[in-house]
Amino acid sequence: ASKIEILSIPIWNVTMDETKNFVFQCIQENRAAIIATANAEMVMKAQTDNELAHVLQNADMVIPDGAGVLWAAEQQGDKFKERVAGFDLACRLLQEAAVRQTAVYLFGGAEGVAYAAVEKCSETFGKINVVGIRSGFFTEEEEKQIIQDIRESGTKILFVALGVPKQEKWIYQHLSELGNCVCVGVGGTFDVLAG
Ligand code: UDP
Repeated sequence: ASKIEILSIPIWNVTMDETKNFVFQCIQENRAAIIATANAEMVMKAQTDNELAHVLQNADMVIPDGAGVLWAAEQQGDKFKERVAGFDLACRLLQEAAVRQTAVYLFGGAEGVAYAAVEKCSETFGKINVVGIRSGFFTEEEEKQIIQDIRESGTKILFVALGVPKQEKWIYQHLSELGNCVCVGVGGTFDVLAG
């Protein structure tokens, strides 16, 4: 897919369907991947946060999450096909995962929130193959166990909700230890889903 650069951050000109297909293609090929969702706030953060910029420049896909990103593209004479909101992507992936019974792991958020989010989604999408849930507040010692648990769970999709830019950096730092899964930073998605 072609990319549009906004302030040195490459953002993929993809639709929701193309993003979903990419995720499941990675799963089929059994390879690890990082999907990041770029909104104006993240692009601005990346201007002064070199580590975040590096992660975004090396992600497997950065999707046009925010209206501000679409607007910025138009200012420079480019046009994204559509906005692919991170929240909507998380829902779409959970829906497809339910259909295919793809293993998913939810990491992040306050205690009980991801669990409540899964309960709510199951009501809409049917049974979801959840192989792990872990809250996003942890010590260094616990972090090692979390990484091991994710790897041993054999998850195919890992949703990480630690907030921006912590989740992007965390995924990038630990990608090789997480097993071959597609990692998606989802911010406050679990909170919204949990209601
Ligand atoms: N969070 C977490 N661990 C942390 C910091 C944040 O699990 O150390 C969670 C928090 O509970 C919330 C999410 O990360 O569910 C971040 O949501 P927020 O809307 O603040 O982040 P944004 O989407 O703006 O990045």
